[in-house]
Amino acid sequence: MTRFLTLRQQAYEANMLLQRYGLVVATFGNASAFDPDNGVCAIKPSGVSYEELSPEAMVIVDLDNTVVEGNLRPSSDTKTHTVLYRNFEGIRGVAHTHSSYAVAWAQAKKSIPLFGTTHADHLATDVPCTEVMNDDKIKGDYEHETGALIVETFAGTYAPREVPMVLVASHGPFTWGESAHKAVYNSLMLEEIAKMALLTRRIAPDTPRMKQQLIAKHYERKHGKNAYYGQ
Ligand SMILES: [Zn+2]
Repeated sequence: MTRFLTLRQQAYEANMLLQRYGLVVATFGNASAFDPDNGVCAIKPSGVSYEELSPEAMVIVDLDNTVVEGNLRPSSDTKTHTVLYRNFEGIRGVAHTHSSYAVAWAQAKKSIPLFGTTHADHLATDVPCTEVMNDDKIKGDYEHETGALIVETFAGTYAPREVPMVLVASHGPFTWGESAHKAVYNSLMLEEIAKMALLTRRIAPDTPRMKQQLIAKHYERKHGKNAYYGQ
């Protein structure tokens, strides 16, 4: 009998949502749920189709990437997830997709400019894009280095709790949140923001960022200390 029933369930549901939201094809993408009390996360097994997933198939891994419980190999991106759990305090879920619009910006190696209120409802900055990884790191512990690149991009510049998403240059998006479900929700929002920004650029290539007053208004009404959006 597993000690991690709830964690497995959370990770399973998050992975299935990735598919339901249309953010993944074939076996692409992965989501994990983190339990800080036990220092473990539940993550999708490597190369298993979404149709075959179940809570039991999730793999329990500690933050040193050792499998604690499970019969299958964990996602090949596991080391990226655990680097984020080790460095971004308070996050409980991570998601990774190759959703088309977010990937398009990542492949263009461009941050997504904050053009409108949909974007500002979720974060008050551009969606950051990392540098392209150097050759030594690509040849080294690649998945670990992907996480390290994200941490490096944020260091001293962005607060992970306020900017719950990033584009890894030439690769694609990683998102996180206070739960696995929230991490997946942020992947969905990022895809929508990426699509809207691309269309905006196409209509008017010289569109400036939305003005600061509107950014502050939309971000603060949802996330500020006097937030009044929602129930
Ligand atoms: Zn990937």
